[in-house]
Amino acid sequence: MRRILDGMARTMRESSPPRATALRQLREAESGDPFSILIGTMLSARTRDESTAGAVRALFGKYPTPGALAAARVRDVERLVRPVGFYRVKARRVVEVARIIRDEHGGTVPDDLEGLVSLPGVGRKTANCVLVYAFDKPAVPVDVHVHRVSNRLGLVSTGTPEETERELMRRVPRKYWLEINEAFVSYGQSVCRPVSPRCHMCGIRGRCAYYRERAVRGS
Ligand code: SF4
Repeated sequence: MRRILDGMARTMRESSPPRATALRQLREAESGDPFSILIGTMLSARTRDESTAGAVRALFGKYPTPGALAAARVRDVERLVRPVGFYRVKARRVVEVARIIRDEHGGTVPDDLEGLVSLPGVGRKTANCVLVYAFDKPAVPVDVHVHRVSNRLGLVSTGTPEETERELMRRVPRKYWLEINEAFVSYGQSVCRPVSPRCHMCGIRGRCAYYRERAVRGS
């Protein structure tokens, strides 16, 4: 795994100006604040990075704490997060989550998987992102990029992100978990793209099952 992560980093350095993933940017912009990272991750689902960043800035500009967001009217929150996909549902959810954190968790975001997935609208992927990006706790958040890149490399052979998460946790030593999401998401966005992966410039093609298969088929 070390060689894969280093090969990805080398290819990224050589191929394009470095660009942090939305979650890394969120962590840096919000100084690692768990509540902002939780709400930002919820807003980021099925949304372009730029739209998420704008909505997070607008939302926390007006409601910077769980208490402030908990007291907000959903209609006002909808207006602020309008650029993100499914903004009406998400506005309702983030206010609900803020209220639960205020009323049931003393204003503090839970720092374990069980507590996080008990919040409405928070699934395993979001919960794992919060563990990694807000609390530096080893977890493997799997989105479409992590799922695709892991399968192409042959690290796993799975049909769903949930299975991929399980298999990566089983096969990859825990000491690498914190690095996987950031590395695989940025690699999947710029090199191992969904359509037309840029295998010609990929520094880990010697370790890639998909590349080997294509070479055998001569395509
Ligand atoms: S060789 Fe191609 S398919 Fe394999 S990891 Fe690199 S870019 Fe992705």
